[in-house]
Amino acid sequence: MSPPVFRFAPSPNGYLHLGHAFSAMLNDGLAREAGGRFLLRIEDIDTTRCKPEFEAAIDEDLAWLGIIWETPVRRQSEHFACYRAALEKLAGLGLVYPAFESRAETARLVAEREQEAPWPRDPDGAPLYPGTARALAPEEQARRLQSGASYALRLDMAAACARVGQLSWIERGKGPEGESGSVAANPAAWGDVIIARKETPTSYHLAVVVDDALQGITEVVRGLDLFWSTSVHRLLQALLGLPQPVYRHHGLIRDASGQKLSKSTEATGLRELRAAGVTPAEIRHRVGLG
Ligand code: GLU
Repeated sequence: MSPPVFRFAPSPNGYLHLGHAFSAMLNDGLAREAGGRFLLRIEDIDTTRCKPEFEAAIDEDLAWLGIIWETPVRRQSEHFACYRAALEKLAGLGLVYPAFESRAETARLVAEREQEAPWPRDPDGAPLYPGTARALAPEEQARRLQSGASYALRLDMAAACARVGQLSWIERGKGPEGESGSVAANPAAWGDVIIARKETPTSYHLAVVVDDALQGITEVVRGLDLFWSTSVHRLLQALLGLPQPVYRHHGLIRDASGQKLSKSTEATGLRELRAAGVTPAEIRHRVGLG
């Protein structure tokens, strides 16, 4: 049997903090324990917010923690062609449509709907897509595309779900309500998610699924904040005919006041802690892996 394959997949849009250290060390430790492989993937599809200096800092911080990863590192910005191929496959199934509303327009539509009744939110708390672009007449759609208007490509969630039926995943960690074992996926809770944009042939969801398959990832170990995203990932895997890894979502490290850590909170930044003389062993202890 081939060894299990783990990955740590940060976005270089800021400096790493204790939460990243926990996730990376947990992945690395589980890989070692299982005689598996450990890969680093740089999730930099957002080319405006991701910066080479943040990527360099990721390497530096992980090496300082004593983590060893395989090279070459997969950098998502270098693989847009792979994501485009997956996107075309979904489009070929008739599951993708362009939505032309700007963020402001979308917000206005939601506000309008909310005058009648509360508008449904996705698991992250964002309102579901309230627009009607899916029903746009083909001529009107063609006219807008030709006009050079900006758009997002959305997944026709109802049609996608109807195609694959009920899905589930194996959870080795714990969900927000203690879910574990076989968890029923509920992609419909996300509405018509964005899977690409006019200028970028992918989204986080699409790239992560394509890459996990291409890199042969068998164990996805990541933060609890991504637990319900797994529903969308399972749906895309099923639509694209990709294998499914097992998942282990871990708790998030919080600051002294119980808040989720952010990349800009210096008190828990790995480079600040290093500069203050904290050792990797102390970091390990602080995140509960000591
Ligand atoms: N790039 C994502 C993040 O930094 C993690 C993606 C994943 O582990 O699936 O939050």
